[in-house]
Amino acid sequence: MTTQKAKTTQNTYRKRTGQANRSHPVKLGGETKSKRQPNSNAVRFIAFGGLEEIGRNMMVLEYRDDVIVVDAGLQFPEEDTPGIDYIIPNTSYLELKKRKIRGLIITHGHYDHIGAIPYVLEQIGNPTIYATELAKEIIMKRQSDFPNAPKPNFHIIKGGDKLKFSDNFSVEIFSVEHSIPEGFGLIFNTPVGKIVHPGEFKFDYGNDGKPKGLGVWENIGKQGIHTLMLDITNSSVPGWSVSERVVERELEKIFKSAEGRIIVGTFSSLLDRIAEIIKIGEKLGRVVMLSGYSLKSNVEIARRLGLIKVKKGTIVPVEEIRNYKDDKILILSTGAQGEEKASLMRIISGGHRQVKVKKTDTFVFSSSVIPGNERSIQNLKDNLARQGAHIYDYKMLDIHSSGHAPQEELKKVMELVNPKHFLPIHGNFFMRWQNAQLAKEAIGLANEKIVLADNGLVVEIAKDGIGVTGEEIPASYVLVDGLGVGDVGEVVLRDRRTLADGGMVVIIAVINKKTGQVLKNPDIISRGFVYLRDNQDLLTAVRNKIRNIIKRTSNRRSADPDYIKALIRDQIGEFLFKKTQRRPMILPVIIEL
Ligand SMILES: [Zn+2]
Repeated sequence: MTTQKAKTTQNTYRKRTGQANRSHPVKLGGETKSKRQPNSNAVRFIAFGGLEEIGRNMMVLEYRDDVIVVDAGLQFPEEDTPGIDYIIPNTSYLELKKRKIRGLIITHGHYDHIGAIPYVLEQIGNPTIYATELAKEIIMKRQSDFPNAPKPNFHIIKGGDKLKFSDNFSVEIFSVEHSIPEGFGLIFNTPVGKIVHPGEFKFDYGNDGKPKGLGVWENIGKQGIHTLMLDITNSSVPGWSVSERVVERELEKIFKSAEGRIIVGTFSSLLDRIAEIIKIGEKLGRVVMLSGYSLKSNVEIARRLGLIKVKKGTIVPVEEIRNYKDDKILILSTGAQGEEKASLMRIISGGHRQVKVKKTDTFVFSSSVIPGNERSIQNLKDNLARQGAHIYDYKMLDIHSSGHAPQEELKKVMELVNPKHFLPIHGNFFMRWQNAQLAKEAIGLANEKIVLADNGLVVEIAKDGIGVTGEEIPASYVLVDGLGVGDVGEVVLRDRRTLADGGMVVIIAVINKKTGQVLKNPDIISRGFVYLRDNQDLLTAVRNKIRNIIKRTSNRRSADPDYIKALIRDQIGEFLFKKTQRRPMILPVIIEL
């Protein structure tokens, strides 16, 4: 198996954890294959995101003068990027190649596949976006927040379409099951052979409990596939998916047994589930109220496109809640991840205008917990349980099924497609490594037929094999903070982390311009460090230290204020660390009179 780590590029921000690993070449399967010699007859694959994280999906396939981009997604911020709204891919390579970009193909309408479009589309030359109706609507809805962005050009695609980009490149689209309607996989016809990118997918199951639609994968397998990529988000989850039919049945059971109102917390992006829930509510004679902006707008788009069909009068505004009896009400709400400002949080904490928790309410959490959100969801459920409501989550009953194939489904696809080479995508290194083990188990692929590359490494897909070249393309994080894109760098982030870890101490000293003597007792202001009023001894000691520092420098003829500031920063920082074991940010201010 070929595994290569990219070198850390200077002046670019990398996740701290990822960075630590990067300096050591990882050996897998007892071997690290040497780099390939660049080959102009090969197809080049580069990911600008999505190979070292879940999210920020964006990759290209390139053959000579033709570049095809797949997806342009965002990633939500992490603990070590405080204050950041989104993380998007670095597109500097594509900006240089914008004349060669033949199109941007969107596999489906989730934000980790479309969310970077408003920020990168113009930079990469505003190429035609190949997307489904639904993805187009979601993209355009978002685009309305960016009035100065150029108008995107769309080409609507559907399953079975063939797109011919050039003599060398054409793409066939096939439909896959995911958690949003109109998910697509792609078959690239290239001079080296067929390359398959299945998008994000899972199996669909019939009422008999057997997987449906495996014929698609069989047909692909018959075409002789050179390289298979695979969405490995759930490569560590054993077994098969929970069938959506089972989810539907379980939800219906809960809904039937509910005596009062039903309140379901979910994601606005799980449109398939939302459609199911509305259907069950309607069947049981309840009106449906939507609470949360993104939920309302997604349902509105899906209704307009006929993807959600409801009778007139089923969906009513939550403002009219008083007009209905409790046992006739179903409320769908965003915020099942415990997000602070989301509607479910407001309902449970008593801050929602129309909906307050009642003991007769039944709350259903129909989505999984995104890692990192465990504690806020726990708080949410604690709060709810104390108020006496009935609560169901996906651990108690099969009321959620992920949109990503678990191990047995991944293995089945590998068996049916039976590719010559394998390139796992979407997810951290360990997850892709795990999936490589599955590939060996399922179809006996040898190490040199599998590539685990990092973001920004060039994978050459040639007739005779697959591997990475020595070339490295910028693929660092680009941080979006408020209106700024890329203007928050490592320095700003480091400051934010220091402030979060140790707080800050401002020292204001007034000195005589001529003599350099301290004129009055230095002022010390702190935030988030220790409560200084309760630490008078420390305060006095710091003041004395500052006086001493300045006294020593005042012997010099012209004490440079910057020099004094540096001394204060170093020596007071060191002193405070000795006394408190904390490292606040020290901001010295010298006023010369
Ligand atoms: Zn998705």
